[in-house]
Amino acid sequence: MLKIDNLHAEIDGKEILKGLSLSVNAGEVHAIMGPNGAGKSTLGYVLGGRPGYEVTEGSVTFAGEDLLEMDADARAAAGLFLGFQYPVEIPGVSNVQFLRESLNSQRRARDEKPLSGAEFLKLARAQADGLGMDMDMLKRPVNVGFSGGEKKRNEMVQMGILDPKLAILDETDSGLDIDALRIVGDGINRIMRSPDKAVILITHYQRLLDYVQPDFVHVLADGRIVRSGGPELAHELEREGYGAVAA
Ligand code: ADP
Ligand code: MG
Ligand code: MG
Repeated sequence: MLKIDNLHAEIDGKEILKGLSLSVNAGEVHAIMGPNGAGKSTLGYVLGGRPGYEVTEGSVTFAGEDLLEMDADARAAAGLFLGFQYPVEIPGVSNVQFLRESLNSQRRARDEKPLSGAEFLKLARAQADGLGMDMDMLKRPVNVGFSGGEKKRNEMVQMGILDPKLAILDETDSGLDIDALRIVGDGINRIMRSPDKAVILITHYQRLLDYVQPDFVHVLADGRIVRSGGPELAHELEREGYGAVAA
């Protein structure tokens, strides 16, 4: 589904990703862990097509297409979803409006029929219910005044509605209490655990991985994957720290 080969990327002339390679197949969950400043969020932004990041070497294919040739909207329409560490607030635009427009613009790009208001609300209600989120929150402006946990839950509702092929979730667990962590973890499993989908979970901590069990764990340090293993690697990191494991 995703093949990253020798990816080098820089921002403001500073090289952050320094030859990163990673393959993700449908049906797999990959966790990427690593110290602060290693380049984890940069990887997410580069894959999402955020402006300002320059790829200087390497290649990325997504479902057989050259991802780096696609603009951010085309990447989303092709089934890539990015959950950010710090979800943006959009005053004046309700969640319902925002999500319906996001979904319908993706559907139009795929030559699918846009959903009517009623069809969309039915879908939104089902997803909100699945995540224990009140419909009233979906009528409020996007993320404005939401707590950290509410933003993450909202992000899971977005993910459920957009129904991506590949979700890259950057520190989705940050700021969550134990109950919210379980709800978000269950949401990821329900929405994304499927033979034709894949997830990349970027996380500092093992605790999210108790809810969403990864098939592979990778250590990203100084712009590259320096170690890969199974779920046991996350426990080793938690015990021994990145210094010992990534050295
Ligand atoms: P992580 O998510 O692993 O903590 P990041 O990808 O956020 O790491 O950052 C990797 C490195 O890139 C850090 O050294 C950070 O300071 C640097 N960096 C991130 N954004 C910028 C930017 N806009 N300009 C310059 N350096 C940046
Ligand atoms: Mg960080
Ligand atoms: Mg980060």
